[in-house]
Amino acid sequence: MTAPSRSTIPTLEDLEAQVGDLAGKRVLVRTDFNVPLDESGAIADDFRIRAALPTINWLTERGATVVTASHLGRPKGAPDPKYSMDPVRQRLGELAPGVELLENLRFDPGETADDPAFVARLVDGIDAYVNDAFGASHRAHASIVGPPRFVPSAMGRLLQKEVDVLLGLRDKPRRPFVAVLGGAKISDKLGVVEALLGVVDSIVIGGAMCFTFFAAQGKPIGDSLFEPDMVDTCGRLLAQAREQGKVIHLPDDITGVDASGTYATFGDRLPDGAKGFDIGPGSAAAFSDVIMDARMVFWNGPMGMFEDDRFASGTHTVAQAMADTKAFTVVGGGDSAAALAQFRLDDEVDHVSTGGGASLELLENGDLPGLQALRGDFRDEDA
Ligand code: ADP
Ligand code: MG
Repeated sequence: MTAPSRSTIPTLEDLEAQVGDLAGKRVLVRTDFNVPLDESGAIADDFRIRAALPTINWLTERGATVVTASHLGRPKGAPDPKYSMDPVRQRLGELAPGVELLENLRFDPGETADDPAFVARLVDGIDAYVNDAFGASHRAHASIVGPPRFVPSAMGRLLQKEVDVLLGLRDKPRRPFVAVLGGAKISDKLGVVEALLGVVDSIVIGGAMCFTFFAAQGKPIGDSLFEPDMVDTCGRLLAQAREQGKVIHLPDDITGVDASGTYATFGDRLPDGAKGFDIGPGSAAAFSDVIMDARMVFWNGPMGMFEDDRFASGTHTVAQAMADTKAFTVVGGGDSAAALAQFRLDDEVDHVSTGGGASLELLENGDLPGLQALRGDFRDEDA
């Protein structure tokens, strides 16, 4: 796919030029209000609501009536009180009085199916559409790809920032450019490893991901989490990296529990029954050196099961290096962002992306269905 230029996607200024005076116009803004909720159903972090304010305020300052719409959680295409937008609506009312918010888009099966009838209901009475939901723009859902077929459309400020930063990584890399990847589900991320091999100078791999690579190298991994279906792919990626002169850094020590469940530190060959839950101190120091020497770093996925204090130190060391390095630093992924916030380092990196899957897909493909829709060239077969 040819890399799109951001300049071909209409901005809010382009929208105003096209529509004319926005006063009295009804503007549908697709926001990402998919906020984390605590056990009581209250908003645990309103970051995503605050992140939409620059776009909302720009529109309301011009006299537009703003109607926001978002999904929340994963309701199964039917109303589910657990995922009601009420708490979000209340917080939004405090931050941006007078702004409307539709009910959870995924209460209707038409949202994920990109059903034309659902799109028609969304744009009914609407004069313009703004997509500011970066975190949902990798989905060809009704509220993302539908409205631009019918009304003048643009990207909001948040989407614009995300696209600028992430396409900047792909198109104008500063070297050494290092990708740091971790987390649990490797199958989601191997595509990005392959795509990144073309742009980065080295890839650092931690988290549960490393065990599938270990398996590909024939190293014993005990009972650690790994994906048997992906072992061959990991082997191929290791060979591909060698051919391209790129380095894939894997940990050479691991902390976890032994067969009796006792906390233990291992080398890169785990005994029977052992489970690896974090990169070891030697690997954390080595990874942090790679980050310190880089000029650009993209980080997705924690280095270990950081929710458990015993296994947080690899992620903490990497997060600290992200904060300390002079490199341009970008973090994508819900859990990586949560880890940064837990260590109070979220203000110390250059950009924390609001989208995990979307940031990976934009790096991998250089484009997203939501961006294609705004440029007027989204086709269903692309989805
Ligand atoms: P992100 O949301 O940043 O993209 P992921 O969702 O891919 O990250 O992965 C985050 C999860 O991975 C965390 O809940 C963490 O506990 C888990 N994880 C990381 N390393 C391990 C490991 N070695 N074993 C089990 N789980 C792990
Ligand atoms: Mg996650």
